[in-house]
Amino acid sequence: MNKEGILIVICGPSGVGKGTICKEFLGENRDIKLSVSATTRMPRTGEVDGISYHFLGTGQFEEMVKNGEFIEYARVYDNYYGTPKAEVLKSLKNGEDVLLEIDIQGAMQVKCSYPEAVFVFILPPSLRELRDRIVKRGSETEESLKLRFGSAYEEICKIENFDYFVVNDDVEKAVMQLDCIMMAEKNRVLRNKENILRKFREEI
Ligand code: 5GP
Repeated sequence: MNKEGILIVICGPSGVGKGTICKEFLGENRDIKLSVSATTRMPRTGEVDGISYHFLGTGQFEEMVKNGEFIEYARVYDNYYGTPKAEVLKSLKNGEDVLLEIDIQGAMQVKCSYPEAVFVFILPPSLRELRDRIVKRGSETEESLKLRFGSAYEEICKIENFDYFVVNDDVEKAVMQLDCIMMAEKNRVLRNKENILRKFREEI
């Protein structure tokens, strides 16, 4: 049946491990496309332009905002991040599923413009565990730790805006749960109603 792809939005506090989960999830699901975001932040070692992100200057980014070229964009930790519209909409139209790994401000914008997307929030097993993970990752000052920790709780308080949650206490289990979510979403009557009716109408 020829139908539009599913847009899946993955969100969660800094340090929760959403990057690892998404990487594993996409590794097993080669037919789900990862949207490459644009950002004004500097590339980190090993990051490749066009693959990790589209690395843009602030002027270029603002020009794209002005031209309405983003599905959503937000300022996160002093840099702009945004999801380019054209490629995502083209993939969805072609029946391909697309995954966005974005921050909560961006997710709320997508919810307004694309309410049929599936919104998944990744939770840590506990705030204590989240703190330990961020500390282990290093590079955070006591002040920025407090900031990230505070905003983690604030983000968790917005969970009612999401359709599903996945607790990241075990990556393999988390990926399995994402698979189950996608499977259930593919069989939603609302997403398939017209195709089902058309198919059976043709038979009578
Ligand atoms: P990082 O700089 O560590 O790669 O990402 C920082 C934050 O920006 C993460 O929470 C990540 O999910 C978020 N992010 C990455 N791409 C986008 C995007 O296109 N839009 C929004 N709103 N957030 C993004």
